[in-house]
Amino acid sequence: MPYVVFELLFWLAVVALPVWIWLDAVSALLAASIYLILHILVQDWKFRRFQKWLNSTSLQANPPWRGAWLDVATRIQRQQLLAENRTQLHERRLQDFLLAIQASPNGVILLDDESRIDWCNDTAATHLGLDVKKDRLQHIVHLVRDPLFTRYFSQDNHPSEVLIDGRSASVSSLRKLSVQLHKYGDGRLLLLSRDVTEVIKADAMRRDFVANVSHEIRTPLTVLGGFVETLQSVPLNAQETQKYLQLMSSQAGRMQSLVADLLILSQLEVSQSPNNQDHISLPDLVNQVISEANALTSLLADQLSGQKHALVFDQVPLLRVMGSQKELFSALSNLVSNAIRYTPLGGLVHLTFSQTDDQLTISVKDTGPGIASEHLPRLTERFYRIDQSRSRETGGTGLGLAITKHVMQRHGGELQIESELGVGSTFNLIFPASRISNQIATPDLQTHT
Ligand code: ADP
Repeated sequence: MPYVVFELLFWLAVVALPVWIWLDAVSALLAASIYLILHILVQDWKFRRFQKWLNSTSLQANPPWRGAWLDVATRIQRQQLLAENRTQLHERRLQDFLLAIQASPNGVILLDDESRIDWCNDTAATHLGLDVKKDRLQHIVHLVRDPLFTRYFSQDNHPSEVLIDGRSASVSSLRKLSVQLHKYGDGRLLLLSRDVTEVIKADAMRRDFVANVSHEIRTPLTVLGGFVETLQSVPLNAQETQKYLQLMSSQAGRMQSLVADLLILSQLEVSQSPNNQDHISLPDLVNQVISEANALTSLLADQLSGQKHALVFDQVPLLRVMGSQKELFSALSNLVSNAIRYTPLGGLVHLTFSQTDDQLTISVKDTGPGIASEHLPRLTERFYRIDQSRSRETGGTGLGLAITKHVMQRHGGELQIESELGVGSTFNLIFPASRISNQIATPDLQTHT
């Protein structure tokens, strides 16, 4: 028998039995009825208080009852606590999940079953120019107004992505987005957006590069082919034959230089950064460049029958540079060779060194034609030339500065260019102090003019 019924019968007996014994059965029945009515009224009052307690937002720590009511209240309290803990856990999980999506580099938008924005992360908002709060519950097609997207959205299935323009502040910062819709849940859609501007740029650069290389190789090949045909079909004397062979050799040389520079570039791209354990002697490196520069000035003076360039090399500091001898030689010799090739005969090419606590700068200055400022930012692009014919005449491949820039990046440094039209140019190789160390032995230094 439940405890409450037993308790009720007990108190009925306690009230009714003495009355029965002292008075009579009718009086006992009356007393029991009165007790029962009072009991019901008390229970009703307790029940209402209990209801009020249940409806209160936070259930009191200690329920103000005893007996069965306390038991029920405690159980309810325990259930309530468990439910609260479970809700908190779910909320925490949801927050973690949303934070993870928020941290995603891709844009994520959850659309409800009427294609209205339910939630979106900040990346998606930036990509598509949305306002995370204001645009909630707006139809996605009303906000992403690109006709390509509208057409894509109206399809039943979206097996592939679509490329659309992203929202950006200016034309110069136009972004390209790859957007794809995925079905999920009950008629809902997930929209993912990815910024593919850099991928598209890299793709275009690769295509341009292949086109440029083909063009650079086709020109000397066509010339070579023409000469071979002439040699085969036209009877020539020994002097003429010699002249043609010389021209053919120069075209072959041009292709060889191009292939050599392409190989250096691809090597720089695929190989790991140069070994920091190798300490390259700066005086030795400069001496090597000096020998090459002397040979080039003599060759140009002979070819163009003019006065040799003046080459001035300042005292080389007794330093070592951490990195690759081959790459550093290539970077410095490209600058010196450019200075000689683009400076008219008789001009001055000057190599200087300056060291501060933070960096070492090797500067190659010339008194050449100088470079207009609009060309400066593009000079290190592959095959970018200001004067096509001057570059080709002097054996340029259009890759020298691209190689130098790459080498400097691999050595933690940078290539800096200053120039003034009609005055000359200065190309600076800047190395961070962390790459430089002192050299102990005194090398055999040269100063040339
Ligand atoms: P190139 O093989 O044509 O010399 P580079 O990458 O070395 O290719 O140089 C790119 C372009 O920068 C050159 O074609 C030339 O127009 C310009 N340039 C480079 N160095 C100088 C310089 N010292 N003076 C003037 N123009 C230069």
